[in-house]
Amino acid sequence: MTNDHSWNDANFETRAIHAGQDPDSATGAVITPIYQTSTYAQEAIGKLKGGYEYSRSDNPTRTALQEALASLESGTWGLAYASGLAATQNIAYLLRPGDHVLLSNDTYGGTFRLFDKVLTNFGIELSLADLSNLDAAKAAIRPNTKIVWVETPTNPYLRIVDIAGMAELVKARDIRLVVDNTFASPYLQQPLSLGADLVLHSTTKYLGGHSDVVGGAVIGNDGDVYETLKFHQNAAGAVPGPFDSWLTLRGIKTLGVRMDRHSANAARVAAWLGEQEAVDTVYYPGLESHPNHEIAARQMKGFSGMVSFTVKGGFKVAAKIVEKTKVFTLAESLGGVESLIEHPGKMTHASVAGTGAEVEDTLIRLSVGIEHVDDQIADLEQAIAAATTRELIGASTHHAD
Ligand SMILES: *Cc1c(COP(=O)(O)O)cnc(C)c1O
Repeated sequence: MTNDHSWNDANFETRAIHAGQDPDSATGAVITPIYQTSTYAQEAIGKLKGGYEYSRSDNPTRTALQEALASLESGTWGLAYASGLAATQNIAYLLRPGDHVLLSNDTYGGTFRLFDKVLTNFGIELSLADLSNLDAAKAAIRPNTKIVWVETPTNPYLRIVDIAGMAELVKARDIRLVVDNTFASPYLQQPLSLGADLVLHSTTKYLGGHSDVVGGAVIGNDGDVYETLKFHQNAAGAVPGPFDSWLTLRGIKTLGVRMDRHSANAARVAAWLGEQEAVDTVYYPGLESHPNHEIAARQMKGFSGMVSFTVKGGFKVAAKIVEKTKVFTLAESLGGVESLIEHPGKMTHASVAGTGAEVEDTLIRLSVGIEHVDDQIADLEQAIAAATTRELIGASTHHAD
């Protein structure tokens, strides 16, 4: 549905609470109702009462979510899906056999898997490049490239892609720039304003924010693309239910305050990790030592809550750390209020094994939540201490893993 323009002049935090979410016109309910219905009464054949006919096509709770998403990304329209990958699939329907897609070489594993294992069956060509390097991106563009698919910050290495630079690169060509804005959220980064054509979200992450719902979204400005994607959304049917839409909206209301705290806590955790003997490299775009820090500071309002780091002593030490934390729960996913820890090589990124896009086996990824940062650091400290006893390091050196 299209942007609820009545809130366009308001600031982000205000739009997060109100855009698309005016009190219910029928009852005055302050909070958008969960319209848990599959179908709608018609006044006469084809004469709809409130514009709604069937909930795969449209549902009022989903409409509210779509208007809020459009507003938050400064787009003219937003579409919500049953998952981030359902949203990705809907964008992929814009492609035709023989078209080429250029993906970052550390893209979310599931996005890579969808293109590599499913869409290549339909004649889509795929290649990977380090898109944080614009020269490498330029060299990887082919005459039949139709989509450049950017994630920034990337997952799990938190590289930063220069969105405005990439938009400039594809502008003269018949290429769509899609930015997966999941790791930053619209509060910290506005890809459409930087020249992207489409923004994709796994709303499962920061937008939902409470690890209680799976969802996806696409936001853009081009009206023709909206008509096509809206048709795909209904035709393929991977829509979020009313309750899932409502949970996502509920999460969105607090996005700004959550992102501020996620960012502040992650900055503290990253700085602390950098001082630890057992830690090798810390990847966090907020650190001045980060190779893309300058671009991150330019295109982001904050650096978000994702931190990755490698440890000394091999896989066993990394595995032990992720199993020893308590404040940080060992789990996939990210972006919720609670802290999560994971081993990308064996978990989120296991599907890239053998593709050349592998991650180091000493890499640990954190989704830094909004618990008290002192408790987060104390938890990491005890886990690292438990994992780096002399015996363990000695053993792993002997086995050279
Ligand atoms: C989780 C995630 C996805 C996929 O979204 P789902 O909601 O799990 O389908 C896509 N991109 C990024 C960056 C993600 O973290």
